Amino acid sequence: MVYDYDLFTIGAGSGGVRASRVAAGLGARVAIAEADRLGGTCVNVGCVPKKLMVYASQYADAFTDARGFGWTLPEAPRFDWTAFRDAMDREVARLNATYGRLLAGSGCALIRGRARLLDPHTVEVATADGPARYTAQHVLLATGGRPRRPLEPGTERAWLSDDVFAMRALPRRLLVVGGGYIALEMACVFSGLGAQVTLVHRGPRLLHGFDEDVRTVIATELEKRGIDVRLHTRVECLEDAPSGGICALLPHEESLEVDAALYAIGRVPNTEGLGLEALGVAQDADGAVIVDARYRTNVASVLALGDVTNRMNLTPVAIEEGIVLAHQLFGDRARALDYENVPTAVFSQPPVATVGLAEREVPGAIVYESDFRPMAHTISGRDTRAYMKLVVDPVSDRVLGVHLVGPDAPEIIQGFAVALRAGVTKAALDATVGLHPTAAEELVTMRAPRPAQ
Ligand code: FAD
Ligand code: NDP
Repeated sequence: MVYDYDLFTIGAGSGGVRASRVAAGLGARVAIAEADRLGGTCVNVGCVPKKLMVYASQYADAFTDARGFGWTLPEAPRFDWTAFRDAMDREVARLNATYGRLLAGSGCALIRGRARLLDPHTVEVATADGPARYTAQHVLLATGGRPRRPLEPGTERAWLSDDVFAMRALPRRLLVVGGGYIALEMACVFSGLGAQVTLVHRGPRLLHGFDEDVRTVIATELEKRGIDVRLHTRVECLEDAPSGGICALLPHEESLEVDAALYAIGRVPNTEGLGLEALGVAQDADGAVIVDARYRTNVASVLALGDVTNRMNLTPVAIEEGIVLAHQLFGDRARALDYENVPTAVFSQPPVATVGLAEREVPGAIVYESDFRPMAHTISGRDTRAYMKLVVDPVSDRVLGVHLVGPDAPEIIQGFAVALRAGVTKAALDATVGLHPTAAEELVTMRAPRPAQ
């Protein structure tokens, strides 16, 4: 059978673009279909605009803290959302164009439109000129995910994370629902930009999956910033408020009036309309495509990676999966991706960063911890503390987990991810000379383990 392409990728986001470019570089004939803007979630409604918003909001702290260092600001600083959003949009557009150039330069054919599978080797794309059909030896599903919609009455009034990047004006009062990555990042962004933020989370602790001490510390830090954190609380419904805003009904007949409500309650894989059911491609209860260690679905020619498989939903993971898959299909350097010791950060303020295992995951763990006032804030007067924890294996002395809350935590953790991958021991950290004065030096100067609890 002669196919039009060796690889047909559906979805030009982080994983799909990288898999396609690397495959083309290995000599494969590749096409990629994209229904929306190039770059996917990360570039358009994820990591990139989110981090730019984090930067924008951090200036608020800088202006306040500067006073402690002798600065007098001539007038109260003001933030212009429209000016910032225009700058953010220009940067996103620049990245969209860069993705287009990279794809073209690698020799991939870019087909604009929504794609679906007709059979294990045939894809139909709804292009502006009508439906077009292509055949391929391998079809890669890299369609990502989208924000989960809440089901409670009246929640059609609420924003999802995609809406934040296009909002017309900053809300003065914001309700954030959820206790995960996006809820915390956005709560801090809006609080920094001057909004009065209430964070409502159904569970007893924020950031499920993270180390328990980190979960406690970050909740305290958010409260110190003036975010009203309500744990064990559910929003029963949203209604129009007489003032023109939104009224959220909380338990015990409490109500909360806000200008906007943002739901950040997880994401769902984009599998609807792809034709997977007709082909019998196996999906889990959340609709995620089930794959094996080589990204193969139960249909031999159909592969999947990234958020549509809903395993480790991070951009660098999708990108690495793309590289690994392309080599498996068309290269001679096939390797598997190791999902252990993948670092991750929540860009809250202060940020959280972690690599490796939580304390609860290591029986008999030896734990080293440090809780201190970051140097800058001895003078700024800001009430905030940094927290660091090392989780060490009692038998091998290997460092199995590093957990940080505090300034520069994401920048620090990347280097420790390398160290953990290389099998660093506590003795090696002890033998490492610190770099002074930094927060990171704490990680090589913790000598006494925490008494067993
Ligand atoms: P995506 O990047 O979502 O790409 C999928 C693409 O497929 C999209 O362009 C979509 O339009 C297209 N598509 C879907 N269906 C079809 C179809 N039928 N036909 C054609 N095209 C289709 N991760 C981090 O590592 N760090 C962060 O700081 C971070 N911040 C985030 C902040 C937010 C607000 C969000 C929502 C996510 C964030 N993430 C972050 C997660 C990260 O964005 C995702 O893990 C990553 O983008 C997944 O890449 P992907 O290739 O699997 O899918
Ligand atoms: P998360 O999975 O991080 O958090 C979802 C939150 O919503 C949890 O606190 C969960 O509660 C809560 N929740 C789930 N369902 C409901 C419901 N029906 N009602 C009320 N609360 C609910 O998802 P996010 O949406 O924050 O982010 C999605 C993913 O995107 C992340 O998991 C991450 O992989 C990626 N991402 C990465 C970022 C980064 O790297 N910095 C930034 C943003 C996103 P419970 O804890 O009880 O389950």
